[in-house]
Amino acid sequence: MSGKLLNVAVAGATGAVGNEMIRGLESRNFPVKSLKLLASSRSVGRTLSFRGQDIAVEELTADSFTGVDIALFSAGGGPSLAFAPHAAAAGCVVVDNSSAWRMDPDVPLVVPEANPEAVAGYVGKGIIANPNCSTIQMLVALAPIHRTYGLKRIVVSTYQAVSGTGKKAIDELSVQTQAVLDRADPVCGVYPHRIAFNCLPHIDVFLENGYTKEEMKMVNETRKILGDATIGITATTVRVPVFYGHSEAVNVETRMPFDMKDVRNLLRAAPGVRVVDDPAGNVYPMAIDATGQDDTLVGRIRRDESMENAMNLWIVADNIRKGAATNTIQIAEILAEKYL
Ligand code: NAP
Repeated sequence: MSGKLLNVAVAGATGAVGNEMIRGLESRNFPVKSLKLLASSRSVGRTLSFRGQDIAVEELTADSFTGVDIALFSAGGGPSLAFAPHAAAAGCVVVDNSSAWRMDPDVPLVVPEANPEAVAGYVGKGIIANPNCSTIQMLVALAPIHRTYGLKRIVVSTYQAVSGTGKKAIDELSVQTQAVLDRADPVCGVYPHRIAFNCLPHIDVFLENGYTKEEMKMVNETRKILGDATIGITATTVRVPVFYGHSEAVNVETRMPFDMKDVRNLLRAAPGVRVVDDPAGNVYPMAIDATGQDDTLVGRIRRDESMENAMNLWIVADNIRKGAATNTIQIAEILAEKYL
């Protein structure tokens, strides 16, 4: 870091991601001079702890950002669209977790392990977007493969934890699980169907092309981050009854031939990746092992024997940490180190 202390705000501080951002600022020793915690009017009166001090939660308004250097936003798309421009106008750089700004051509979309240089584009609108959680973990693993062999096509199926929907969904899985075990009728609130002991091939809304918005986020964000609109990508995103940790089955076709041993070595050396792959010992990435970690776990690494230049990977990460809070703070670290 440059050594300069910064005035930081977290918008959406009371949420699942916001809470992890506060913990991440602490654990990564981010150079915080002051910390402002913002949420909706519902949370005014609450306090949250940072480095042993209680900080009162304030209401997020257009005037919240005077004197703030960096604002980490995780308050949802509506508040981001409404308030990020006010923050930028006040001279604050916003790193936003919602999908509101991701495809804006003047807003960089950054996975630090894949395209850290894109952070420089923050000067456009004063906003940097954090990609979708499923996109982030996939690209931590695929960026080195793309750099070395060129990605031609990706086929991905996800197994996404309920924490990706926020704290209400975490409660819904708990309550429904208990209800099913008690032979009572589970109540559905967050999802259109029961999530306990079930899988829903439905994340975010359905679009006219038959895909969900989550699936198209994986397609469009991947192309933007890798700067290559020619990569073929198709996704099926599925919500599963897991609290934390998204898993992904990823089939990749490369432009250049590869040796499996070289791919393993490439992944072992890749920043942010931990290879967890010893099938003989029943060792492979699992959501329960990724939880509470910043690394993206990659295993079940094997050649796709059905076609040339293709392989399969199983990629797992903590969606609240690397999929959201950690990636946001890593972007803020690059800003602090190089640009502010
Ligand atoms: P969450 O647990 O439901 O928390 C939402 C947060 O936003 C709370 O702090 C809430 O404040 C605040 N908020 C809601 N409406 C607001 C408003 N009108 N004005 C000010 N604050 C408002 O949700 P989450 O999981 O943390 O997700 C937050 C954002 O991060 C979403 O955009 C989500 O898509 C994105 N994201 C989430 C994940 C994930 O894996 N969870 C991953 C990547 C990105 P109150 O407590 O006062 O209501």
